[in-house]
Amino acid sequence: MAMEQEKIVERLLEATRNLSTVVDLETYLQSILSAAAELTESETASLMEYDDSSQQLCFRYVPWFHREAISSTKIPLDKSAAGWVFLHVKPLIIEDVKSDPRHYVIIDSLADFNTRSLLAVPLIFHGRPLGVLEVFNKTERYRDEDIYILESLASLAITALQNDSLEKDLAASQKEVRNLDRMKNEFIAITSHELRTPLGLVIGHATFLRELTGDRHQEQVDAIIRSATKLKEIIENLSTVDNYQSGGASLRSRKISVSRLIEDVTIAFRDMAAKKTVTLKAEIQPNEELSINADGNKLSVALSNLVKNALTFTPNGGHIIVRGSREGNSIKVSVEDDGIGIPADDLARIFERFYQVESHLTRKHGGMGLGLSVAKSMVEHHGGRIWAESKEGAGSRFIFLLPLDSKPEEPAPAKPFAE
Ligand code: ADP
Repeated sequence: MAMEQEKIVERLLEATRNLSTVVDLETYLQSILSAAAELTESETASLMEYDDSSQQLCFRYVPWFHREAISSTKIPLDKSAAGWVFLHVKPLIIEDVKSDPRHYVIIDSLADFNTRSLLAVPLIFHGRPLGVLEVFNKTERYRDEDIYILESLASLAITALQNDSLEKDLAASQKEVRNLDRMKNEFIAITSHELRTPLGLVIGHATFLRELTGDRHQEQVDAIIRSATKLKEIIENLSTVDNYQSGGASLRSRKISVSRLIEDVTIAFRDMAAKKTVTLKAEIQPNEELSINADGNKLSVALSNLVKNALTFTPNGGHIIVRGSREGNSIKVSVEDDGIGIPADDLARIFERFYQVESHLTRKHGGMGLGLSVAKSMVEHHGGRIWAESKEGAGSRFIFLLPLDSKPEEPAPAKPFAE
């Protein structure tokens, strides 16, 4: 007797729901095989996947009582019903296998099974056949309805198989990325360490030469010292971030005035701003020293990097304001400019090491994409957080908060520019 429609729909719905809830692939596919056999009123079912290396079909899932006997057996495409279905990408019903040469009889003797009739449908993903789902020995004749049921179950099975394989690929890629990241960090640590010693010698000897040669080759020797010092700065920046990321950095904290720090940094960039006709000013909350226990040198580097960037990315005639205030239990420092701004897509990534908005090939400005990652490391080492708000073409605002009780906090995500 034909199975009730309601029961079929119920089982198919259950299998669909389970696709996203059952974590274990083996359990899920076994449930698909049971549903396939039960809903088509067949004796048993099996699932085969195409194996690229042998170019044959291999049993991926079979009922447990056949597993030992046939799970390692491969099915040739040209001598089996499953192979025919795979190659033609069409369902196939064989009512009497004895009168159809497409049935691969060897399997029957291996599994000690007597196949009388079968229905097989292809497992198709993105239009490509990847395997075959088969049911065997229906009590009556296989009908169109059985094909629809089996095709629905086949599409659930192939989705589960593909999800599983994507998950495995993703895990492998994540592992690879972690590995590459570790190698990159090691490379940076070793290279910067190895470069430091010869560079120190170049600077030392060049300084000595300048004294020896007096005015004669001053221009050339100065150029050597300038370039070598610039290189040293780059290496220092590289190892600073590395040191912070590996947890090797230490803070020399003492009571400092953030108001004073802002004034000092602003004064240090006064000439550079004047040369560019950019107005650079500090706005500090009046009557507030903004005292905090912190490493003044490191905070000065962080703030200098922000001001240096603001000057770099603000065209002539622009304005930069450095602000300091108390906000709840933190000290807030911000550097705001009306320069070129940062595209929304880049905003979340500018604090990454080596990240630059312009491509390094077409880049007009110098730098290695390290300034912000150094600033971030230094602020976070104080238990603070740093973020940027920006609108392309309108300007940027970089803000950092330093907690007065110095408790480490999670870094904040980048936000759009608040006008
Ligand atoms: P770099 O030293 O190469 O400039 P940073 O880490 O300091 O590297 O900055 C990363 C990138 O963020 C810069 O290359 C620039 O594209 C962008 N950026 C930083 N500050 C600003 C700013 N004030 N205005 C516009 N873009 C900025």
